[in-house]
Amino acid sequence: MIGWKNGVAKLTVPTPFPVGDVHVYAIRGERMTLVDAGPKTEEAWQVLKSQLWELGLTPGDIEQVILTHHHPDHAGLLDYFPKDLPVYGHFLNERWLNRTDEFLQAHDEFYFKLFAEFGIPEKYKMMIPLLKRTLRFACSRSLTGVLEEGDSIPGLEGWTVIETPGHAQSHIGLIREKDGIFIGGDHLLAHISANPLLEPPLPGSDERPKPQLQFNESLEKLKKLPISLVYPGHGEDIENVHELVDKRLRRQHERAMTVKEWLEEEALTIFQVCKRLFPSVYERELALTLSETIAQLDYLQALGEISINKEAAAFLYTCVKG
Ligand SMILES: [Zn+2]
Repeated sequence: MIGWKNGVAKLTVPTPFPVGDVHVYAIRGERMTLVDAGPKTEEAWQVLKSQLWELGLTPGDIEQVILTHHHPDHAGLLDYFPKDLPVYGHFLNERWLNRTDEFLQAHDEFYFKLFAEFGIPEKYKMMIPLLKRTLRFACSRSLTGVLEEGDSIPGLEGWTVIETPGHAQSHIGLIREKDGIFIGGDHLLAHISANPLLEPPLPGSDERPKPQLQFNESLEKLKKLPISLVYPGHGEDIENVHELVDKRLRRQHERAMTVKEWLEEEALTIFQVCKRLFPSVYERELALTLSETIAQLDYLQALGEISINKEAAAFLYTCVKG
């Protein structure tokens, strides 16, 4: 049943990705707003249209879209909307939405360098261009305007932007302080922990972000906000924010400690750690499993638990003996 609840309606459209359905939220403000859109597939478009219809709306009634982040399952369907529909989001969406040849080339170069540092065998290098394959479900357009921490949202009185980088560098959530409704994108999900995805360095920087550290900080941030209910990008609504945040942080810490034990035994490359963490899926899901692996090593490094030998062709990670 699709319906309004306190001015917000939850729509659910299918995606071609393993994560399954994605939620799109309609908000009835001075401007009729969608938060996220769905992936660029005909099926998603038909489902979205029929669910809008249940609300008495057509795509032409939508006056603006706010993006929680740039991933194709959230933003791709924008291509089915009129070109002049205003779209707002964090400025780091832009490089993924309005993809320049320069960015795509820098993206691949970033991974070629990373694969060498991670000790990934030659034969996997041909997979690098394929890491961008989900972009065929992405949209091609530009942001109308950018949103950042603490901004109020045009046409949506009472809602405020909260930056939550980690799962994506472009990630934001929207909070309505009067009742604590938080539209959270993929930052906090009830059934799975979202992947701290690697991304190329931000504009003007040579160093890659450390998404797990950002993610953990963004999770801690949720605990300080007066959130009564999270409307997530996937899965069930979340009420027990503190409990779930603590569980996510604890699980990640435990995974990192497993890796630490291995590094107490011997020095390993990222690729070797990745194979041990994900023996059955690392080849099929190289990008995701590498992100999850580097996440643990960035975390251990931040704790001062490990050191990195960058002398060798591939970086070697060892435990700092206490
Ligand atoms: Zn995502």
